[in-house]
Parts: sequence; C-alpha cells; structure tokens
Amino acid sequence: MDEKRKKQILWAMMHRIVIALILLIAIMYLVLNARKENTQKTVYEELLQKFEASQNEIIMYNRRMAKKYGLSSKGYIPASVTINAKKTNSESIGNEIIHLYKINGVSVFDGDVVQFRLFNTNTFFSEIRESDPSNDDVGNSVDERLCTISDLNDGIVIKQNISVHESHGKRAGNTATYTVTYRAVLNKKIPLSSQDLREEPKKQTRPELKNISITRGQVLKQDGYSRYIAVALIIVLSLWIIGKYTRETATAREDYRLEQKKKQQFAAEKAAFIKKVAGKTIRELANVPCNIVFNERNLPIDNNDARYGSFTVYRSKSGACFHRKKGCCSAHYETHAFIAKSSRLNPCTKCCREGISIPPWYQEYLNLKQEYIKYGIAENGKD
Ligand SMILES: [Zn+2]
Repeated sequence: MDEKRKKQILWAMMHRIVIALILLIAIMYLVLNARKENTQKTVYEELLQKFEASQNEIIMYNRRMAKKYGLSSKGYIPASVTINAKKTNSESIGNEIIHLYKINGVSVFDGDVVQFRLFNTNTFFSEIRESDPSNDDVGNSVDERLCTISDLNDGIVIKQNISVHESHGKRAGNTATYTVTYRAVLNKKIPLSSQDLREEPKKQTRPELKNISITRGQVLKQDGYSRYIAVALIIVLSLWIIGKYTRETATAREDYRLEQKKKQQFAAEKAAFIKKVAGKTIRELANVPCNIVFNERNLPIDNNDARYGSFTVYRSKSGACFHRKKGCCSAHYETHAFIAKSSRLNPCTKCCREGISIPPWYQEYLNLKQEYIKYGIAENGKD
C-alpha cells in the first residue's frame, strides 16, 4: 500500500483513539459520580468493621489487665467524676434550668464516684431543660467511650455541646448553648508496668458516614462495578479501533493490488499495441491518401484549390443546407464538409445530391490517433 494511504489510515486511527479516550473519560466521569454514594457506604462499613475490631482488641486487653491486677471480674472500676456545665452564649431561655447527667444509665452529680466499665463502652448522657409548662425546650447529647486502665489513670475528658431552643413565651426563638465537660480519674491508680503500657492497643475514633469524602479515583479503586464498566468500555473501544483499522488496511491493500493489476494490464496492452504498430506512422496504418494533410482541428484537406480542398462546402448564414456550389441559394460561407455533416445541415438537393460520406481511413486515423495518445506513442510510431 502506498505511503499516503498508510498515513491517512494512521491519522484516522489517531482520531479514533482521541474520540475513544474522550468517550471513556466522559462515561467514567458519570459512572464514578453515580457510584460515589455507594462507595462512601462501603468505605464507611469497612472503617466501621476495623473500628469494631479495634474496640474488641481493647476489650481483650482490658480483660487481661483486669485479671493481672485483680480487678472486678465484671470489669468495673471506680473513678471520681467532676461535671462542669458552662453557658457559651448570651441568649436567655429562662431561669429554671434543670441539668440531668447520666453515666452508664445512672444519674450522677459533680463529685460522685462512678463504676466505669472496662469490658464495654461507657455512655455519657447529658440533658439540659428549661422547666416551663410546655417542657419542650430541651437539648441533649450522648457519647460513648471505651476506656483503658491507663486512660482512667491519666483521667479522661468528655466534652459535649448542647443547645436548647425556646419556642414559647416571651423568649421564644432564643437558643442557649452549653458546653458540658466530664472529667473522670481513678481514685486509686493502678500501677501498670511499662510493658503493659506498650501493649495497649491504639485507639481509633468511630468513623462517621458524613465525614467520609470520596474522590472519583477512590471510587474506581473501591467499586467493583465501576471497574467492571471501565474494563468493558476499554475492551469495546479497543475492538472498535482495531476493527476499523483492520478493515481499512485490508481495503487499502486490495485497492493497491487492483491498481497494480491495472497498471500491468495497461503495460501489456501498450506492448501489444506497439508490436501491432511495428514502427509505422498513423497515416501508414490508416492508409491515409498521400494528398491529404490535416489541419489543427484534425480535419483532412486535399490539394484542391479551395480552402479545405475538395472537402469545402458552402452555407448561408442561417440556412439549413450546405452546398457544393458557392453562391447556390446565397451560400457564401466556406466550411468543412465534415463539420457541415456533424452540424446536421442537410445537403442541397440541387447541387449536392450525393451528400457526404466520411471515408473509412479518416475514422481509422482518428481512432489510431487516440490510441497513440493513450499509450504515449509519437506519431511516427516510436514509444
Ligand atoms: Zn446548392
């Protein structure tokens, strides 16, 4: 196949690759966006599983420590708790504010000693309420915390933000905000060895669905469905490009083969023609009489005196006939008999009864001339 065609096919293929890439990117963009939420849930569940596993590890560790240091077999350990509630804005919702604090479901007050759990999470529940007849201005907060002995040795701190909204009475629309701080520390510290401290499992924070942000890259990595579509798209687009390329190459090869065949045929025909001509001129081959010359329009002229020799006829400006005799029916314009014939003029019935016939050598001369031109042979019969 020739270079030009080859280049064209390559260019077409490059175009298709670009189109395929744009299609791939556009479709994957849509797919990844559509699968984002799903992936977020999957990631969340994975993180949650890891978190729960880490919680279990901590519980196992706590069980070992409880046994080692002779603590309660149920995993309770007493710690004193201080509770502090601070109002953090100036909006008022009334005067009768009631605070309720519960640790592990038991009401506690500032300064109480509370049984903390080592084999389970500890819950911290706070509620702040403005006491009025409607009883609907209330805010609360719950936290869960799994503690180790070392946490309680050092003292744990839980902070909660609570807002209480007043919807009735003269302070309707006000929202009071509070920060509640629990501090808990063991009365009697447990002397953990440095080995025990080293073995303490790392704590993880509980994952939250809304905090997990997912990029499209992560979707592709995490989501099997998206990957499946990506692979399928790549296969389909590749097959399209390869298929087109294969078909175009095959067509180009076939065209080239036919062209070569034509060239060979022409060369063979030319060779045969040259052989037939055998170095003779067109005149010789067509048997053109010696007294004939051809003008620039390839019209024959003989040695008669008139402009086109004995091929000269006459016509009037608008007449429908041509004449042998000059001046017959006021025909004064000279013209060539063959032109008159091809212009569909009729022979005059007075002076030109016999009409005009084109001699066979003339047609032969014209045919040969065309063939000589076609094969690029000079009139003297040389290639
Ligand atoms: Zn006439």
